[in-house]
Amino acid sequence: MDDKDSIKKNKTPKDRIRPVKNVKRIIILIAIILVIIPTILCIFLFNKIGVLQKQIDMLMIKKYGTIYVGMNHDKSHVAEAASSKEGNSNTFDNEKETKKSNDKNIDNNKGQVGDKDGNPTSDFKVDQAKTSQSKKEEETHINSNGQKDKDSKNEESKENIKKVYLTFDDGPSKNTPKILDILKEYNVKATFFVIGKTDDFSKEMYQRIVEEGHTLGMHSFTHKYDEIYHSLDNFKEDFFKLRNFLYETTNYLPTVYRFPGGSGNKVSDLDMSVFIKFLNDQSITYYDWNVINGDATGEKLSPEEAYQNVIEGVETFNNSYVLMHDAHTKDSTVESLSRIIEALLEKEVDILPLTDDVKPVQQVRFDEINQ
Ligand code: ZN
Repeated sequence: MDDKDSIKKNKTPKDRIRPVKNVKRIIILIAIILVIIPTILCIFLFNKIGVLQKQIDMLMIKKYGTIYVGMNHDKSHVAEAASSKEGNSNTFDNEKETKKSNDKNIDNNKGQVGDKDGNPTSDFKVDQAKTSQSKKEEETHINSNGQKDKDSKNEESKENIKKVYLTFDDGPSKNTPKILDILKEYNVKATFFVIGKTDDFSKEMYQRIVEEGHTLGMHSFTHKYDEIYHSLDNFKEDFFKLRNFLYETTNYLPTVYRFPGGSGNKVSDLDMSVFIKFLNDQSITYYDWNVINGDATGEKLSPEEAYQNVIEGVETFNNSYVLMHDAHTKDSTVESLSRIIEALLEKEVDILPLTDDVKPVQQVRFDEINQ
């Protein structure tokens, strides 16, 4: 009997099962690897797609100024990207024409104005949306009995309702959550013309503004007049910095703008028409204001004064664009807000957020500058 035979004979049943167990282990290990590797690859690829999509969006913004935004967003907030460059420029031209023709239909009224974000200085011409007779006739349907349709009557009465656009400049600030809470309590939507702040709290605030259905508008990244109004290049850089930052933070692409100091500010080094034309090329609508709560003045404003200023201002216009500030020192704005909203709701006015299809109020009107 040689050594090999003796080894074979000494093998126990356990020893014979061991190789089978090992094979089983290897098969299970291979199966796990086959499941895990594709899963990891999928996660990696999904992330990569997300990053690439954002990069494409950024390039689209830089090249065309517009993109489609996520499916969850209301399309009325979003400018469309055309399939070709030619098509795109046509889209812009059409928009310009629409804006021009809209502006022809509106009358001028005297409004309260600001020099620096609402400091009352002088009167100026502002647009006030007004229903033209022809438009009314167009929308009035006569049924077979010669009576107006019920829908037409509803539309007419709807047109007579005053509209109020509450706007908050300069945020986010420590007051942003308080303002948002009050708006939520009354189920009222407003517009926040924000500046660029990169801390976590501010990012959370931008997201809350969008998630809670308000309009996230732009008010420059730095809010430094001497920098942004020094040259068109500075203005462009600041504009894209803020727009891209807000898009990256909220996945929402803002389409409305408020110039720091308003379009009629007297501090810009260049004629404001230079910046206005640029915004128009980007399909951005800019809004000034015709009502102020007075919180831009250096003097301490009482909540009662803020309330009175807004209510008296709103009495004057069919469409009121109310300038207020979302800043650390503007507590009276927060303290007066509930009372203002309650009074407006009692008057049965529509309190709405600004969207780029809302007729703008402009100190320097787009249709009055040389093209
Ligand atoms: Zn401001």
